[in-house]
Amino acid sequence: MKEDILHNLALINDRIKRSCEQSGRNSNEVRLLLATKTVSADRIKIALENGQELIAENKVQELKEKYEDLKDIPHENHFIGHLQTNKIKDILKYDVTCVQSLDRLELAEKLHQRLLTENRTMDVLIQVNTSNEESKFGVNPDQAIELTRKISNYSTLKIKGLMTIGLFSAETEKVRACFKILKKLQQDIITGNIPNVEMKELSMGMSSDLETAIEEGATIVRVGTAVFGARIYPDSYYWDEGKTNN
Ligand SMILES: *Cc1c(COP(=O)(O)O)cnc(C)c1O
Repeated sequence: MKEDILHNLALINDRIKRSCEQSGRNSNEVRLLLATKTVSADRIKIALENGQELIAENKVQELKEKYEDLKDIPHENHFIGHLQTNKIKDILKYDVTCVQSLDRLELAEKLHQRLLTENRTMDVLIQVNTSNEESKFGVNPDQAIELTRKISNYSTLKIKGLMTIGLFSAETEKVRACFKILKKLQQDIITGNIPNVEMKELSMGMSSDLETAIEEGATIVRVGTAVFGARIYPDSYYWDEGKTNN
């Protein structure tokens, strides 16, 4: 188990390094985030004890279950799943430092209210649905700038960039088109010069498409399967669930 994880991590780091070289980027511009849904705390621990420092869950329940086992190992926790407003308190309780999946004003407002109460701030990324698939969360690209503008009014929310899940397709150019949409939005938002908004981060690219994402400017790639192996649940379990129930 340990050998597999370390071997896979080495392969991923190598892929990141090579795609950075190929696109003329410095490999320290790209952070590896481990998507740890369904992965046991024991296995996550192996990664954290061997050079990894950034992990993310999709579900509050899993965050909670693994929290005690992982809290003494230094690391950073992001949240990348659909967040229901009634789980906001938990996100704060279990030390999430960045919500990458902020995709609607109602969630931003409730998160802000809670942060005000606790006298804290939170880093956030705006999640954009660049693949135009019904099944995925995220604001539509044509509404992303307006949403960013509105969210920028909440003083406790520190907007750091954008996140997307690219199209699932073997056709690289179709996947690339999604990443280009995110990059273009980033540039448009930067041009718009919105106060209280930083647009440094582009969280895009997963096990199967991280090279393309890095070529298009990713600063965070989110990898699960290629490090921890295949999951039993289909991703739709994580991505569709709760769509009508937020
Ligand atoms: C599961 C997940 C990933 C990682 O996907 P893999 O294909 O396993 O690398 C990345 N981002 C999000 C939002 C996820 O839910």
